[in-house]
Amino acid sequence: MALTGNLRINGDRLWDSLMDMAKIGPGLRGGNNRQTLTDEDAEGRRLFQSWCEKAGLTMGVDTMGNMFFHREGTDPDALPVYVGSHLDTQPTGGKYDGVLGVLGGLELIRTLNDLNIKTKHPIVVVNWTNEEGTRFAPAMLASGVFAGIHTQDWAYAREDAKGKTFGDELERIGWKGDENVGARKMHALFELHIEQGPILEIEGKDIGVVTHGQGLWWLQITLTGKDSHTGSTPMPMRRNAGLGMARITELVHTIAMAHQPSAVGAIGHCDVYPNSRNVIPGKVIFTVDFRSPDIKTLNAMKAELEEKAPKIAKELGLEIEIEEAGHFDPVTFDEGCVTAVRNAAERLGYSHRNMISGAGHDACWVNRVAPTAMVMCPCVGGLSHNEDEEISKEWAAAGADVLLHAVLETAVIET
Ligand SMILES: [Zn+2]
Repeated sequence: MALTGNLRINGDRLWDSLMDMAKIGPGLRGGNNRQTLTDEDAEGRRLFQSWCEKAGLTMGVDTMGNMFFHREGTDPDALPVYVGSHLDTQPTGGKYDGVLGVLGGLELIRTLNDLNIKTKHPIVVVNWTNEEGTRFAPAMLASGVFAGIHTQDWAYAREDAKGKTFGDELERIGWKGDENVGARKMHALFELHIEQGPILEIEGKDIGVVTHGQGLWWLQITLTGKDSHTGSTPMPMRRNAGLGMARITELVHTIAMAHQPSAVGAIGHCDVYPNSRNVIPGKVIFTVDFRSPDIKTLNAMKAELEEKAPKIAKELGLEIEIEEAGHFDPVTFDEGCVTAVRNAAERLGYSHRNMISGAGHDACWVNRVAPTAMVMCPCVGGLSHNEDEEISKEWAAAGADVLLHAVLETAVIET
């Protein structure tokens, strides 16, 4: 069979599966609370397993609980092409973040079964454990262990807010497998995901061809001044750490604006001490978040902040401490896989644009060990990590169609 634009997945069936999965771990406002390694996560996994086995796939589970469902290829020596994402959600998450990529992979398999299409390379659908990182930080934990970023022992020791460990909870829900994590070799991996930003919807594009993932620097800054009475401390005598943070907030924005269009910066977290209405803040701890797909830009933003923020502190009589609190290198996805995604959109007649992923994804880690690319579809208002997250059936179907074609081009259709 030839790869033509007529070859499409079943959009209704994909949508029905998305809605069925969303019944597990329902949120309070129509979204989902299916956090990793909870009973709801286990139930979602069992439903996914039953669907995959019904589609004739065989399951493997590794020691991090990553689930792999295998469809045979015709060449016993060919490495599999992987598709997938994650089924876990934020505590107040949506129905599509991650889930679309997993169930889009399953729908692709169901379509191949319907049409009796065989491929040279096997195809494997994957559900990565704990992508969200809300219950057990950091995000993309299990794909990170798979790719050799973290050790498994370190991952097992991660604790949730109640002091329960990842390792114990994985065992408790019954999804600790016996395959060595990271032992699998991949021909390629494709991840379909909602954009989680507004660009595709605003521009009326069906598909984002993801070429890069942003790198990130988190810098934790502590400014120390003197807490004193807001009413009786003369202005020239104040050592106001809150004012220092305000000026550094402006500085972060100015630095990011100077590196447009592909840099962002903000301060999203701050703790003010003593945080009282009539006390000048004596100490403020806050985190700067800089991101860019270009490592030089990313490091230049960090360097500029490290040079200028201490000057601001000095002017205001404040002490400053800057600590590195997190870092990812930018990701450049595999050219061959990215081209397969773009070819797929072209062949199917979907409008598309190149995109940079603003968020982290499992594919960003897997890209370290296998050729990888991502497909994005729009989401309403760019809203995600929110129960109101919404996409249309047509957007989901278009994304899964592109996934199907990119996978088939890479896994090679047998006639
Ligand atoms: Zn996600």
